[in-house]
Amino acid sequence: MIDKILIANRGEIAVRIIKTCKKMGLKSVAVYSEVDFRSPYVLAADESCLIGPAPARESYLNIEKTIRAAISHGCQAIHPGYGFLSENAEFARVIQESGLIFIGPTPEAISLLGDKTASKALATKIGVPVVPGRQEPIADIDEAIAAAHEIGLPVLLKPASGGGGRGMRIVNDMTELPAALEACRVETLKSFGDDRIFVERFISRPRHIEIQVIADNYGNIIHLGERECSIQRRYQKVIEETPSRVVHESLRGKMGETACNLAKAAAYTGVGTVEFILDAEKNFYFLEMNTRLQVEHPVTEMVTGLDLVELQIRVAAGEPLGVKQEEALLKGWAIEARICAEDPTRGFLPTTGMVTRYAIPSGKNIRVDSGIDAGSVISIHYDNLLTKLAAWGANREEARKTLVRALNGYHIEGVTTNVDFVNAILSHPAFAAGDLSTSFIEEHFEDGQSRIAPSDQDLHYMTMAAVLVSHTRRTLVRDSLRPMSPHVGTAEPPPPIHRYVVRSSLDVFDVQLEGSEQSRRWNIIVNDKPYKVVAPEFEYYRRRLKLYIDGLANMFRLRYSDNHIQAYFCGIVRMFEIYTPLEWSLAQYMLADIKTVEDNELKCPMPGLITAVTVEQGAQVRKGQELLRMESMKMESAVASPRDGQIDRIFAQPGQTVDTDEILITFK
Ligand code: ADP
Ligand code: ADP
Ligand code: MG
Repeated sequence: MIDKILIANRGEIAVRIIKTCKKMGLKSVAVYSEVDFRSPYVLAADESCLIGPAPARESYLNIEKTIRAAISHGCQAIHPGYGFLSENAEFARVIQESGLIFIGPTPEAISLLGDKTASKALATKIGVPVVPGRQEPIADIDEAIAAAHEIGLPVLLKPASGGGGRGMRIVNDMTELPAALEACRVETLKSFGDDRIFVERFISRPRHIEIQVIADNYGNIIHLGERECSIQRRYQKVIEETPSRVVHESLRGKMGETACNLAKAAAYTGVGTVEFILDAEKNFYFLEMNTRLQVEHPVTEMVTGLDLVELQIRVAAGEPLGVKQEEALLKGWAIEARICAEDPTRGFLPTTGMVTRYAIPSGKNIRVDSGIDAGSVISIHYDNLLTKLAAWGANREEARKTLVRALNGYHIEGVTTNVDFVNAILSHPAFAAGDLSTSFIEEHFEDGQSRIAPSDQDLHYMTMAAVLVSHTRRTLVRDSLRPMSPHVGTAEPPPPIHRYVVRSSLDVFDVQLEGSEQSRRWNIIVNDKPYKVVAPEFEYYRRRLKLYIDGLANMFRLRYSDNHIQAYFCGIVRMFEIYTPLEWSLAQYMLADIKTVEDNELKCPMPGLITAVTVEQGAQVRKGQELLRMESMKMESAVASPRDGQIDRIFAQPGQTVDTDEILITFK
């Protein structure tokens, strides 16, 4: 009945739907706007069709052009994805009238449930608990004031046809009400072309718990458990998981049954989500029903083993639901992070640009739903969700750790994203403890930065990654200079233990390194704490470095500039400066003029060839005076005296190759 599907969407969700089409042996047709012509989803589809210029109104939101494309490409069905036209009853109706299949519920069910006041009324009618508040839209400020008095502060102003968190305003104080109402009205009119607003009680520190349901055309309906989506910014989800730590068997059964009852009452068909908020006493209140596939559906797929897009297509094609409630078992735990083009340090404002480098993580129990690639242009026209990363584990902690590790290796360059921010959330002890609420981000982060300092262990790990890269660079440079020595082959083996001083922000780490690139095994001591490190895939100057530390794999992302290395790990972003002890003392000396350098030796500052010694034994020298000259990297540079004093002995001779830290001159 269906063998070709048009996907009326773009980005990661279009890629996702095409995957299932391929799996089911169905042909897929992508539509794209002028700026999306080489997007991964367009390349992945069997056919594609340009439907208009960049602005969504003229392309992805254009019902007529979309349906014409479906007909001209010989499609029998249209999948709307999420966002755009997915919850547009008119779209579903015109598709039906054109003799095509809309992969989703009926236009009637969409109209009934898509409106928040109408769906709340339906919920109330069948006894589903709703958030206390006025059911009807408010006419003016006087009515709003009356409603707020009735409900009790704080209240939330909500657009009736809202979505994506847009337009909502909290009112904590009556004096804020007029301005909040005005702002809400302006925003909802702009976003939804509708200015109906209603008022309900603002539940403090709730959890967002939603139930995935699926129904066929024959009255069969089941739920696939809950998803917890409490980690939000601007009322929009960033991290989602299933199951929820606070939903136990009986609550799941109760919420699942409630969700199914509501869907039944609306004669719902296909895949849908009933959203609730759960207060501290575990009372749940109906929020809204999303009549489409949800962004966070992958976590449900990972714990149920079901393909929700496949089920959607089968139901739309008229097949009965093949799964019974008791067969829908949840196995393990799954967590997803949304990776968006936005800047968490600037109020999550969206960012734009071109992705210049792109590397996705890989590994067991990881799922990447990506809509971008190197070369993708992130424009202002569409939603800023770029890609999603999800991880599965036998339990919550396993899933969390796998997701953190995978995020450590997710490299996106060219566009600012929240990839490190979501990693910082997942790495936060409060998240690990499962202590969640929709206020989590406000409570634990400020301007995109965690309110707590990184752990010593994480900083040590990052220090070791930075030191290993820096050390290897120095070694390679030294080895490349060897042939310059007139005494080829007589060079001393490098000392077995290397010392570095590493500065990062206000922290200073003392590092001792023992090992070699050949063996790839290192014993490293950071501030007296010993670690065993193996670098199996040591590819220097790649943007990602994998190290086994005390037996566990850790991925680091790194950026290099001179002897500074910017490292990214578990959401921590830090610059590391790596010094040999001599460089360190010189740096200290240069930074703090007053500080006297007690060293009575001049150590070699860099690997290279001595070209001239410009002082003699016994000479009186001043700090900063040239003592000798060295050649390194085709450049000759002067080496200056670190102190005032008298030259005792000179170990360096012209023509000699020398390594960092070798003693060249001693002072009396
Ligand atoms: P979900 O629960 O699936 O995340 P959201 O409400 O966050 O649902 O919306 C899904 C996506 O669609 C989001 O990226 C959101 O920005 C976008 N979206 C939701 N509703 C609308 C709408 N009415 N108009 C435009 N975009 C929307
Ligand atoms: P949208 O259509 O934008 O998704 P929702 O009604 O689903 O709107 O609400 C989005 C989010 O806003 C919820 O997940 C929750 O965090 C918050 N929220 C909504 N209503 C309330 C409320 N009454 N009290 C507290 N938080 C709420
Ligand atoms: Mg919602």
